[in-house]
Amino acid sequence: MKATNAFAYIDKNRDRLVDELVQFLRIPSISAHKERDSDVEAALDYDRRKLESLGFRTEIWPTRSHTGLFAERMVSPELPTVLIYGHVDVQPVDPLALWTSPPFEPRIADGKIWARGADDNKGQHYAQIAGVEATLRADGDLPVNVKFILESDEEYDGEAMAAELPKHASKLACDVFVVSDSNFPDRDHPAVTLSLRGIQAFEITIRGATGDKHSGEWGGMLHEPIDVLRWTLQNLKDFQTGRVLVPGFYDDVDPPTPETRAAIAGRPWDDAAQARAQGVSRLFHEEGYTALESGTLRPTLQVNGIFGGYTGEGFKTVIGNQASAKISMRLVARQDPEKIAAAFERRVRELVGDMGTVTFRKFGAGLPFWSDPKSPYVQAGLRALTAAFGKPAVMLAMGGSIPIVPAVVRTTGAACVMMGFGLPEDNLHAPDENFPVENYLGGAKAAAAFLYEVAGVRERVPARK
Ligand SMILES: [Zn+2]
Repeated sequence: MKATNAFAYIDKNRDRLVDELVQFLRIPSISAHKERDSDVEAALDYDRRKLESLGFRTEIWPTRSHTGLFAERMVSPELPTVLIYGHVDVQPVDPLALWTSPPFEPRIADGKIWARGADDNKGQHYAQIAGVEATLRADGDLPVNVKFILESDEEYDGEAMAAELPKHASKLACDVFVVSDSNFPDRDHPAVTLSLRGIQAFEITIRGATGDKHSGEWGGMLHEPIDVLRWTLQNLKDFQTGRVLVPGFYDDVDPPTPETRAAIAGRPWDDAAQARAQGVSRLFHEEGYTALESGTLRPTLQVNGIFGGYTGEGFKTVIGNQASAKISMRLVARQDPEKIAAAFERRVRELVGDMGTVTFRKFGAGLPFWSDPKSPYVQAGLRALTAAFGKPAVMLAMGGSIPIVPAVVRTTGAACVMMGFGLPEDNLHAPDENFPVENYLGGAKAAAAFLYEVAGVRERVPARK
């Protein structure tokens, strides 16, 4: 059975499905603003009522910040189970003056829905819900078991829901986890995202003398914290080859397989055009890898900020007694943030030696995620997107991090298909956020087609016992 009936149902009901999203977008569910807590709850409740109307059993899962929603419709234990993710909370809207129309009064113009959350993530996950509805109503029942995990914390406290997962592990059991929270590379190429990089971030502070010192009186006699920081940073990464110089950093990094490199090379991308768009003469790349591979499939280290000494108006001949840097490392493959953090601290202490004292403040950590381009579920996602959008789907790797993805994968042991429906020009987190109506409805079709494709996968791949 194919998704033909579901596609026809979506076409027939397009105005109502768009209107349901518009009503959802009217709820100002900004998780970062305490006074919006009841709106965040109302948004989650909107999904809860919708899913209950489709015969889903629901549960509310409190987190340390807000609440999450779990929903399931179990058709038969013999069928595979698909777990779908989404978040109902949205980013704050300021600067409000830069919006063409009020962010919570959705407007449809130029074939797009304009509102905060239109793409990220209300539009993207409501497309999944619409796809489930279409399948259920058009064919009488779902071809697989479907579960949802919907959160309210993503834009404010991204690890809150991840922290709850272990206690719900048995309920989350599934064959494949689906996330629609990513983009096509452009309008003409629907895409499955194969991988995300993990992250480990630090602020380091190097201290020298007891206080700032007169540089005429002490210059030449002291180890200067700014110098020590400069030396340390220089020895953390070879800026010509792009190699990170922390011993052990590459221990758990398998080189990308030829299949993965070929898959990534299949997306539209042009180094020269990208460099022009960024206002630089050429892109950087790690030795032995293309720029695109360096920015997605390879681990790296960036200095995000440096401060110390006198930076005020005019001049002050002083040796500042401390210097700091904010540093983040992007991780891939089997790299573990904790292990990387320990190796990083060891290396920095070794470099600073007795030239000063160093303190570390750890920030966000997240595991990397990757899937095999040959995975039957990835292939199912590509076929579903191609059928829904009528354009051949490509595979991408993403340089950024979405902590919930590796957290769910680790909890369930399931395969994961990241199948987002957004476009790069949707203005996520910015004024005039928008989502093309065709991507919303196409997303709903892709969601429906994916359920049938997964039902087909189970016929070929025996269930895990
Ligand atoms: Zn977001």
